[in-house]
Amino acid sequence: MTPSSSASLLLFAALLIVTLGYIASCVLWPFKACRTCHGEGKFRSPFIRAVRLCGACKSTGLRPRAGLKAWNAYRRLHRKNRRNR
Ligand SMILES: [Zn+2]
Repeated sequence: MTPSSSASLLLFAALLIVTLGYIASCVLWPFKACRTCHGEGKFRSPFIRAVRLCGACKSTGLRPRAGLKAWNAYRRLHRKNRRNR
């Protein structure tokens, strides 16, 4: 085995481990905290005691991660293709 092929094999194995780790973390934690409201789901006014709901996360405080969005897009496409058959 040449040194370049073993290095590319090592790089491929590292990318495979990182990808599988990201998929596993997306299965365990599919949502992340909303960036707009920092996971609160609402905003508080600095002066008066008014509360405004976050529109970016629909006041849940959670946003789907990129892996979940990709999985949902794949499922939507697959479902649409099956329906058209
Ligand atoms: Zn939010």
